[in-house]
Amino acid sequence: MNIAVLGNGQLGAMMQQAGLRIGVEVQLLDIDAGQLASPDMIVTAEREHWPQNAFTTSLAQAPGWLNAKAFHHLADRIRQKTFITELGLPTSPWRVFRTDMGQEGIHAQLGPDVFLKSPQGGYDGRGQLRLKQATPAALPFPAWADQSLAEQAIAFDTEVSIIGARGRDGQMVFYRLTENRHQDGVLAFSISRPGAFEALQAPAEDMLRTLMTALDYVGVMAVECFVVDGKLLINEIAPRVHNSGHWTQAAASISQFELHVRAVCGMPLPEPVQQGAAIMANLLGVAYDQAWLAHGAAQLHWYGKDYRPGRKMGHINLASPDVRQLAQWLGEMTLPAELEASRSWAIQRLAS
Ligand code: ATP
Ligand code: MG
Repeated sequence: MNIAVLGNGQLGAMMQQAGLRIGVEVQLLDIDAGQLASPDMIVTAEREHWPQNAFTTSLAQAPGWLNAKAFHHLADRIRQKTFITELGLPTSPWRVFRTDMGQEGIHAQLGPDVFLKSPQGGYDGRGQLRLKQATPAALPFPAWADQSLAEQAIAFDTEVSIIGARGRDGQMVFYRLTENRHQDGVLAFSISRPGAFEALQAPAEDMLRTLMTALDYVGVMAVECFVVDGKLLINEIAPRVHNSGHWTQAAASISQFELHVRAVCGMPLPEPVQQGAAIMANLLGVAYDQAWLAHGAAQLHWYGKDYRPGRKMGHINLASPDVRQLAQWLGEMTLPAELEASRSWAIQRLAS
């Protein structure tokens, strides 16, 4: 079998590796100048950015392009928020920011602490500005005016994500909720452990089920949530495999990458078996260090990308059936200095 993935970053590459193992060839497409090997091949995506160019125009008409509806509703932040709200799902209070509202107008409607987010192309905390009532700020780009999203800053207890997949026949499966820690708006660490968010698992699955069904979606989808007073508020939806699901490579019988490939190919989609607890540490804007390989339990995934400050260069997974052993290994292994605060956070979480 042969499928194509829109986007040629690390997510596509990991899908390619997962596909290889189960006999599916995954071709990576450059979003700006891609070409389908055959006109009716199945095309899925590893990103939600949708530039207007000759390739995307032809792709939009291709019979094998899955999830056009999801792209329509989710690629733009305002359309995504509108969609979530129309489905009656909980999310942080928001408005479309119009320049004539001024900063005061935003605070009058959404409170003293507000996130302003660019409509498209934002990822890893880029394209965001935090507005505090006490500090007048300038709009970063004229292009944001009248179309950016203003969103109340949520004082959350923690952040979690639910990842699941829907097959071509509508069948759905889910992983357990993952707990996430961001540094400067970028995911730094994820933890997956049995029993941690049992009370929230069913509500989270219901939300994702509602979304995937409404979008007639096929493949893996992720929903990032804030946990506030024991309830979930949707932060954002990603119609693709997600950074917070990378731990599934180490602690699930079927990784999120394989699950996505299976779903889009119409292959069997059983509930993945999750073995024990796992953490994932993102390697952000750091140079390769062989010391990460020194711990016998650490699984390094290095993306081989050119260095840029803050860029996702790779990640390390660590898994164990025994949560206490996992915490011990996490304490022992070498990690970039920038991750020390996240490491301490994770060790503390694993002990609780
Ligand atoms: P991603 O890498 O997930 O695509 P992104 O750039 O799309 O990220 P968001 O998920 O919107 O950005 O925000 C990144 C992080 O910033 C969130 O996970 C959260 O920690 C913080 N954040 C964003 N919006 C809010 C909010 N309304 N209230 C509190 N924190 C927020
Ligand atoms: Mg996010």
